[in-house]
Amino acid sequence: MGKLLYRWVCVAVTCALALPAIPGQPVSDASESAMQLIRPEAIRATMNFLADDQLEGRGTGSRGYEIAAKYMASEFESIGLSASGDTSNYFQRVPLRAVRPEESGSSMTVIRNGKEDALAYKKDFQIFSDSRRTESSVEAPVVYVGFGVTAPELNYDDYKGLDVKGKIVALVFEAPNFESSLRAHYSTSEVKAANAVAHGAVGIIVLNDPVLEGIYPFSERIRDSERPALRWLEKDGTPHDTFPQLKGVAGLSLEATRKFLVGSGHTPEEVFQAAKEGKSLAFPLPLTVKIRGRQKLEDVSSPNVVAKLEGSDPALKNEYVVYSAHLDHLGVGAPVKGDAIYHGALDNASGCAILLEVARAFAQMNPRPKRSLLFVAVTGEEAGLLGSDYFASNPTVSKKDIVANVNMDEDQMLWPLVDVIPFGAEHSSLDGVVKQAAWRLHLELSPDPMPEEVIFVRSDQYSFVKQGIPAVYPTPGFKSNDPNIKPPEIFKNWEATRYHQPQDNMQQPGLDFNQAAKYADFVFLCGWLIAQDPTRPTWNEHDFFGEHYARKM
Ligand SMILES: [Zn+2]
Repeated sequence: MGKLLYRWVCVAVTCALALPAIPGQPVSDASESAMQLIRPEAIRATMNFLADDQLEGRGTGSRGYEIAAKYMASEFESIGLSASGDTSNYFQRVPLRAVRPEESGSSMTVIRNGKEDALAYKKDFQIFSDSRRTESSVEAPVVYVGFGVTAPELNYDDYKGLDVKGKIVALVFEAPNFESSLRAHYSTSEVKAANAVAHGAVGIIVLNDPVLEGIYPFSERIRDSERPALRWLEKDGTPHDTFPQLKGVAGLSLEATRKFLVGSGHTPEEVFQAAKEGKSLAFPLPLTVKIRGRQKLEDVSSPNVVAKLEGSDPALKNEYVVYSAHLDHLGVGAPVKGDAIYHGALDNASGCAILLEVARAFAQMNPRPKRSLLFVAVTGEEAGLLGSDYFASNPTVSKKDIVANVNMDEDQMLWPLVDVIPFGAEHSSLDGVVKQAAWRLHLELSPDPMPEEVIFVRSDQYSFVKQGIPAVYPTPGFKSNDPNIKPPEIFKNWEATRYHQPQDNMQQPGLDFNQAAKYADFVFLCGWLIAQDPTRPTWNEHDFFGEHYARKM
């Protein structure tokens, strides 16, 4: 964090020198009057519609989601944006496979010294279903590989000196104490799974620890696993980002994890402490595990909604700034306080409402921005960033012409906006963009206050990063000018009582649409500055993401 602040201060000075006006004074250009068109009441109206009971929580693949998509397309059309989906309409259909685990065919057995111990499904363990086949099973010795991370560029390897060929690896969810977004990247299941497969592993067991239990309790994971797992399908019908080499993937509860580590020569506390401190710790376990899974597979589809505003510059209009916001939420699920509809008002009717307002403001500019803009409402975010990953992998415009992504998700319009956390901006020249936008709006910028939550990889901007496209996900920060208003507490309370619950609805207390409009101004300015700059955004020199995901065109 120190390093980030240092860099921020340094760049802020050079950035201020390059600005065209006196600091503190508004810069009057076309963007000033366009921002006036962003209306709090329109944000509220869109959220009201999208979060309504009738849309049934906009679950990916559901009728409610289809209605939401139709609504977004109609709004884009009425604003005057052109269709930029698959054919001549606003929709890009994402082919998906839905996977439902079958309780009767799912089991996990631990074998120690020849003695078999069957674990209880949903109490001790969960199965992460295999989307490639209806039945899978594996039996193999287990090696604990810590975080399961290999990061040569950081001289870090949890697998050092271990032989896991033909074995099951057990690992914890977190990642070592790398810089925030690198830590987030290395914590993702796909990076860990790919690494396990590269080392010859045939199965994965995700252990629980107090940190993970605090962020995402096992009971909630079980509740969420009632919904089918989804993957998007490649042209040949295989599920993207899946590994046929892995024959069994399971997760353990905290209690089951404690028992699992017995006899390993390391106490659970020792293992948890090392994980918490970001330290590498790995060792073979004195046991063998059998994992069996049986699942139902069904192919479905759900659309991204894609609209375009053509740029005004004869050359730059061939390049695109992509605004994204996920339109899906969790649909209908287990009732909480008598409500089974997961309305997703902040998550993410808010982002879609802001997407529409930003689009409306741009559409009325004359002249229009120099670069073209794409407004994409994506599906399947809650199921694993699927719609954005599909779009970024198979965009409806040429991939090499997408210059940047600005993503909106879960706008916390619950306190006066003082600062913005620009997730991911520090990796590219978008850092200068967010600084300028913040300066124009008298907002401050803050570093990631919760690196353990790995937010950088938890929303759709990450799908663009993986295609080598610089991206930023700005969120309201936790600063306050009023000692009686404590944003960290408001946020914590929201997470505990409304996040991913039916109570994230339009009746929840504290929704302040003026703050949403202010945040929309910031997001608008980011895109505007990118669209107007003759030079397209670039990754920082030697940046991990810039080099790791070097543009795949
Ligand atoms: Zn969500």
